[in-house]
Amino acid sequence: MADFHEFYPLRRHNTFGFDARARFAVHVRSEADLVEALADPRANGLPLVVLGGGSNVVLTRDLDALVLLMEIQGYQVEDADDAWLVTAGAGENWNALVNRTIADSMPGLENLALIPGTAGAAPIQNIGAYGVELRDRFEGVRAYDRHAGVFVWLDQRACGFGYRDSLFKQAGAGRYIITAVTLRLPKAWQPVLSYGELARELTGKFALDAATVRDAVVAIRTRKLPDPAQIGNAGSFFKNPLVSAAQRDTLLQANSDLVSYPQPDGSYKLAAGWLIDRCGFKGVNDGPVGVYGKQALVLVHHGGGTGAMLLALANRIADSVEARFGVRIEPEPVVL
Ligand SMILES: Cc1cc2nc3c(=O)[nH]c(=O)nc-3n(C[C@H](O)[C@H](O)[C@H](O)COP(=O)(O)OP(=O)(O)OC[C@H]3O[C@@H](n4cnc5c(N)ncnc54)[C@H](O)[C@@H]3O)c2cc1C
Repeated sequence: MADFHEFYPLRRHNTFGFDARARFAVHVRSEADLVEALADPRANGLPLVVLGGGSNVVLTRDLDALVLLMEIQGYQVEDADDAWLVTAGAGENWNALVNRTIADSMPGLENLALIPGTAGAAPIQNIGAYGVELRDRFEGVRAYDRHAGVFVWLDQRACGFGYRDSLFKQAGAGRYIITAVTLRLPKAWQPVLSYGELARELTGKFALDAATVRDAVVAIRTRKLPDPAQIGNAGSFFKNPLVSAAQRDTLLQANSDLVSYPQPDGSYKLAAGWLIDRCGFKGVNDGPVGVYGKQALVLVHHGGGTGAMLLALANRIADSVEARFGVRIEPEPVVL
């Protein structure tokens, strides 16, 4: 029986730690809970908000909505000859899942270690880190289709993954509620060390295994990123903007130390952290919100602030970057 909570506090359900209340919130621990919550007359006419770990959202106000707190557990492994197919309930903690697959001798997720949040949210923005994206290890999701009123299977193609992007942020926004994710972990494993900092961290290490790569990723991330348990944040706040080769060349002429990464289609990704740093925002605080001192891409909440204050700072930063470099940087988290 799905339990409805009224005026439910969400501070512990978002890693920025902003205070906001949900008109109604329900702990969804099974697909039956989900169907029941959606059919409840109290949900009638209210917008729906799906929350996993709240590590990629900015709560700007109380939500006059039904908030689904996704807590469906589950872990199953299928042997598919050349790969392991691992299915996790949407509410499984992502990092615990990474560690469990490695402990169970199924490498492949090590570069994605220590990303906060749930398995069910991983496809939403096609999480990525250190040269690997979810889509590189992805088979499909089981989701409730709110338009058709049925559960569906969406494969890699249907999910339309892009850089921090997917069907779930585009044409399918608000339509699907993911209840389980299936990952494809090839048995023929190769470490992915394309990311310079990770390769450097592993210099001198031989006979690399997934646990060693995972430990290196964890070491780098721990040095660079604030722990949300200590200081409110949502990881990288801005996406790295994509520009044409011509635009990147023009910027490079004026800024010889510009940080950019070539993309397979000939365009370039600019390091948003570098752009923000150059505009002088690194370590700058605006009352209770600010820019992390060790990484300009991360916005932080020191306590007592609001999501609206954070967004105002984010806009100021984006305006400043645009004025100086002619490039608009876009927020990565979902603003609610
Ligand atoms: C310190 C830190 C470091 C981070 N590093 C990275 C990184 O390296 N790479 C990266 O890609 N991200 C990173 N993130 C962002 C974040 O961890 C990921 O986006 C994560 O996948 C969000 O999971 P969540 O469960 O917290 O999602 P939430 O924040 O709860 O939700 C995010 C979005 O997904 C939707 N959603 C959640 N669950 C479901 C579901 N079951 N069905 C349908 N929609 C759903 C929500 O409605 C919302 O729109 C970082 C965040 C922090 C705080």
